[in-house]
Amino acid sequence: MRPSIPTGQWFASRDGGRWWFDSGSVALDFAYTGGFDARWESLNTPGDLGAWLTGRFSEVAGEPSDRDLTDAKSLRLTFARMALAASRGEDPAPGDVDVINLFAATPDIPPALPGGSRQAGRSTARTGQAMSAMTRDWVEIFSADASERIRLCADPTCGLVFYDESRSNNRRWCSMQRCGNRAKVRAHRSRAAG
Ligand SMILES: [Zn+2]
Repeated sequence: MRPSIPTGQWFASRDGGRWWFDSGSVALDFAYTGGFDARWESLNTPGDLGAWLTGRFSEVAGEPSDRDLTDAKSLRLTFARMALAASRGEDPAPGDVDVINLFAATPDIPPALPGGSRQAGRSTARTGQAMSAMTRDWVEIFSADASERIRLCADPTCGLVFYDESRSNNRRWCSMQRCGNRAKVRAHRSRAAG
């Protein structure tokens, strides 16, 4: 089994605070940099893209190009559309599958063991390889169980989509601290009122 890529990131909340959203998939996290909703845009420059990718793939080095940023935005929009389709139990659009297959066909980041005598070769992956790695991870999800495990948060006012990685496949909330707690508070109030 491949070592898993770290997931989760901070979001700004309306009250000025921050909250942590772990979407369960690196591709979905990437889609939440602005692919679902322009209000959450966090990739304004190629440098923003580079910083985001190195947070997930320590091997990535070098500044992405403007072209990389354009490609990244098209890829994350594809992830977002496919996730929404899967959350509704629908198949992805053939055009979106084409985009995924294009990115997945490019070289990703090769696995490497630590402890060799040569340090050369570390920190040399390019932006495109990281995008390919995310896409291949997405292909694995869609080849397995996307329609059973990609869901909308159970709070009907939330609208966030996550990939449920849990063995029991019973995750309900985007975040326990956010929607999960709100639901607990509501349940408590209605018990207290009753
Ligand atoms: Zn939620």
